[in-house]
Amino acid sequence: MTTLPFTRRQFLKTTTVAGAAVTLAPFTPRLFATEVQPALPAPTPSWVDKPMRWAQLTLVEDDPGKFDLAFWLDYFRRTKSDAVCLSGGGCVAYYPTQIPFHHRSQWLGNRDVLGELVAGCRKLGMVVIARTDPHATYDDVAAAHPDWIAVTADGQPRRHWASPEMWVTCGLGPYNFEFMTEVKKEIMSRYMVDGIFINRWDGSGMCYCENCRNNFKDVSGFELPRTTNPQDPARRAYILWRQQRLFDLWQHWDQAVREINPDSCVIPNTGGGATSSLDMKKIGELAPTLMADRQARRGLMSPWAIGMNAKEYRAALGMKPIVGIFSVGLEEPYRWKDSVQNGAEIRLWVADLVANGMRPWFTKFGGVLHDERWLKPVEDIYRRLAGWEKYLRNESPLTRVAVVYSQQTAWFVGNKVEDNINGWYQALIEARIPFELVHDRLLDAAHIGQFKTLILPNIAALSDAQCDQLRAFVNNGGSVIATYETSLCDEWGVRRKDFGLADLFGVGWKGRTEGPMQNSYLRLEHDSARGHPLLRGLEDAPRIVNGVWRLEVEPREKFAQVPLTLIPSYPDLPMEKVYPRVEKTDIAEVFLRESGKGRVIYFPWDIDRTFWEVLSVDHFKLLRNAVEWATNEEPTVSVTGHGVLDVTAWRQKHSMTVHLVNLTNPMMMKGPLRELIPVSEQQVRLHLPDGARVSRVHLLAANTKPRFTQNGRELHVVVPSILDHEVVAVDLV
Ligand SMILES: [Zn+2]
Repeated sequence: MTTLPFTRRQFLKTTTVAGAAVTLAPFTPRLFATEVQPALPAPTPSWVDKPMRWAQLTLVEDDPGKFDLAFWLDYFRRTKSDAVCLSGGGCVAYYPTQIPFHHRSQWLGNRDVLGELVAGCRKLGMVVIARTDPHATYDDVAAAHPDWIAVTADGQPRRHWASPEMWVTCGLGPYNFEFMTEVKKEIMSRYMVDGIFINRWDGSGMCYCENCRNNFKDVSGFELPRTTNPQDPARRAYILWRQQRLFDLWQHWDQAVREINPDSCVIPNTGGGATSSLDMKKIGELAPTLMADRQARRGLMSPWAIGMNAKEYRAALGMKPIVGIFSVGLEEPYRWKDSVQNGAEIRLWVADLVANGMRPWFTKFGGVLHDERWLKPVEDIYRRLAGWEKYLRNESPLTRVAVVYSQQTAWFVGNKVEDNINGWYQALIEARIPFELVHDRLLDAAHIGQFKTLILPNIAALSDAQCDQLRAFVNNGGSVIATYETSLCDEWGVRRKDFGLADLFGVGWKGRTEGPMQNSYLRLEHDSARGHPLLRGLEDAPRIVNGVWRLEVEPREKFAQVPLTLIPSYPDLPMEKVYPRVEKTDIAEVFLRESGKGRVIYFPWDIDRTFWEVLSVDHFKLLRNAVEWATNEEPTVSVTGHGVLDVTAWRQKHSMTVHLVNLTNPMMMKGPLRELIPVSEQQVRLHLPDGARVSRVHLLAANTKPRFTQNGRELHVVVPSILDHEVVAVDLV
């Protein structure tokens, strides 16, 4: 079975159905075309799995005259950093470049700062990669090569938004394909670095330059889109064309540096979750390693967001090394790039990054320190992690639950997919259920066969082939939990008449959507569904709040029990009118069925999105209970005790670990943390692999040997307290 849901024929068909007036005949979205074999991934460089602790020094232009090279080399040594990213060129060259229009730092003089840093880091035994940033350039470049400059929608060359004396470059034309290729080749020839990291390489928003207009028209037949509506045929074609152009650029650069140093690669700063604009499946195929760039919290971001980033990348890259870039400063829209973050906040962010399987990379902008308060926290964290290294070389996560994320839903349906995923993420954290994320275009048995339960948080866009894969998963004993509009569109975001998974849900869509609903409730049917596991913890609740949006659906088969029914909206003002017009309906608001060894739960409303918005504990209980009912087996790991913990579990070659990250904090949902606050005793129960014998149990952070008992394959460990991050390490023989 092919895992590629997109073919050229399907693209043409659905676009015609959508009413496109323009012929698409010349357009072949090679990215998704089954007739074109994907390029073979280049060999993995020998060094990529070595580094566990990365450092980054991003020089600013006047650093060559000011910064203290010996200080930085000493800091890399003290932090036991084993890899480094150093500023090379692009916007500013930190070495005596010979390439025309490649601007040397005005403070460089006769020095070769990049060369000095590379030599110093090599002496420390570090892996060394060089950083390039191509997104901005200068007046002389714009005058000599106007076709290198980005153009706005109204046809004007584009000045840089933050440095108005500079110009924004076109990411998809000759500036990147030709000039930046020469820069990379020069850096690689001079320094033979292990790789080249490319920052801000993918353009800075839409570019309407002549190259972009002509290239797009040649391939698609369209003018560049001037709408963001993903159902507009030109916009849809642009979403794919831009990706193809960038993947071509990545491979072009990669080949150029490998011709000089075969044991190297380029590493684009790219990727992410559902809203990422480049296909993570393709990224996962091309990248031997990757850096996830979610540097710190901002606004109302949860402290688990960095762990989520790790899971998003792992869904596409598997167990290839994934590195988590964290900032020592604040990451808010005001871009205080020289700021210093509170030490407690940095510690928790890195703890969750490591607990979720990433290797840390600290980033510091500027070689001159305006504020030294970050130095000690990062040194403490890195030295601690160096001591834990063998327990951080994970071979596989231990979990039976996974949540699907869908880039095609974000691209082509354009709804706020992240709100639904975030709702599940928060619920699973609170329930202390370890889980993974899964990419929706990797639903083959090799990628999902290890899971018992797959969660589909309003995954609206699913192809027929993807629906078949989900059916096969359930036929093989897997369970599925789906919400709201899951499978209501095809892979291009075009609405179906009915769910693609109607047979799996046992439910059909009646063609109507209700919402936003005010003052609607759910009746808990304790009489007819007494003791149903979905209602655990809600035994004393006759009714709970409903969500905000619901689909009108009809059952297509007989459901044994209906634990939740609809209490329709009724007026919420004037207060005299606030009484239910209908006390009870027989309209089911959850559908639970068993299918062989698998179980299927479908919520026709936005329980996950509403939970993320409102955080009602009643909705939390339904979400947790749904996962437990669907999974229907003893968990690999369970942790009981007070507080909010991110729990992850891993297998290494000769050990198992359970990470407990203490998120319990008044600043959990709005950083930065003021202090770390310990939680009290936690009981950890871990299911050991068949035949495994425990030789030692160790708490890595406390550096103690805890009380533990073993009962058959179950290991019971008492963790007396957790400050920020504890790891229960179990050595196996
Ligand atoms: Zn352009």
